[in-house]
Amino acid sequence: MTPLETTRVDLIVIGAGPAGMAAAATAAAHGAQVLLLDEQPQAGGQIYRDVERVAPLRGALLGPDYRHGLGLAAGLREQGVQHVRGAAVWMVEPGYRVTYSCGQHSALAEAPQLILATGALERPMPLPGWTLPGVMTAGAAQILLKQSGVVTQRAVLIGSGPLLYLVAAQLCAAGAAPLAMLETQTPPDFRRALAHLGGALRGWRYLIKGAAMLRALRRAGVPRYTAVQDVHMEGEGAVQAVRFTAQGRAQRIACETVLLNHGVVPHTQIARAMDIEHRWDESAQASRPSRGPPPRSAQAARSAGEGEGMALRRR
Ligand SMILES: Cc1cc2nc3c(=O)[nH]c(=O)nc-3n(C[C@H](O)[C@H](O)[C@H](O)COP(=O)(O)OP(=O)(O)OC[C@H]3O[C@@H](n4cnc5c(N)ncnc54)[C@H](O)[C@@H]3O)c2cc1C
Repeated sequence: MTPLETTRVDLIVIGAGPAGMAAAATAAAHGAQVLLLDEQPQAGGQIYRDVERVAPLRGALLGPDYRHGLGLAAGLREQGVQHVRGAAVWMVEPGYRVTYSCGQHSALAEAPQLILATGALERPMPLPGWTLPGVMTAGAAQILLKQSGVVTQRAVLIGSGPLLYLVAAQLCAAGAAPLAMLETQTPPDFRRALAHLGGALRGWRYLIKGAAMLRALRRAGVPRYTAVQDVHMEGEGAVQAVRFTAQGRAQRIACETVLLNHGVVPHTQIARAMDIEHRWDESAQASRPSRGPPPRSAQAARSAGEGEGMALRRR
């Protein structure tokens, strides 16, 4: 068997989203030889997806937050980070030996230090009718918009959380305001959230951004239904309508697309494959890698970004 082509560096970073780009460029600026691996064809991760190509085309529509990613992507080149595009990592062995596929071949990378920056995935939200063509996640609609300029038409958005409102506001800016927002948060949820008001006020910039999104929805005349229940999608061969109950009244909205989002959860596939201990995070209703003590050995795995945790504890 031919041995795999092997790259040896000081640090391997898996994931070229904001966390991985920042970690890779910072380490390189301090003199480390850094290899950055990401299965996507371009750097950017979820928020800054394909930013260097897309910002000049659709930057105005996607907003200043999106264009902020240009600096991070440029930092990779400026600091001499070796970025392998389209590299899907599928095995990490102690040492570290990282095996990945790139196009038609596999390759190996070795380094004493490893950072996992594999980000987040949308939380699956199975509802009756969710497998009908035309039903997808809000993030999927955003990927179509960011990467290909495809604007979802006549959409109903269902769920709760910031990504839902961001995608709705982006659709309004693209001239395809959603037909309705069906929000699943209830008055008791709202009262429970008030316990965190202090923290929310400390993050006042996010509150201002959220208020701006709600204003954009109001200006575009998007109806919002809260505390919705009994949601199901219906249609012959593709989604044609959503039925639900709000404030005790049964409703039906005809539509062409349904976008679901109930927040994001950490993308833990690689951490789990490495047998890193995970804990259940009650507030996020998701499993996360456990934080360990500061690493004493030279060989340390760390994580950054949505995957959270600093030093990772092996089981
Ligand atoms: C679909 C979606 C859209 C989002 N859009 C926004 C938005 O517009 N604005 C916002 O503020 N937040 C958005 N978020 C939230 C987002 O998670 C964070 O804002 C931010 O992108 C997280 O940065 P990160 O660097 O931790 O991870 P990410 O940006 O998620 O980057 C992780 C990277 O790891 C790579 N990766 C994962 N596993 C592997 C593997 N095995 N091999 C190789 N590469 C791998 C992925 O390809 C990805 O590029 C979105 C989340 C999702 C799921």
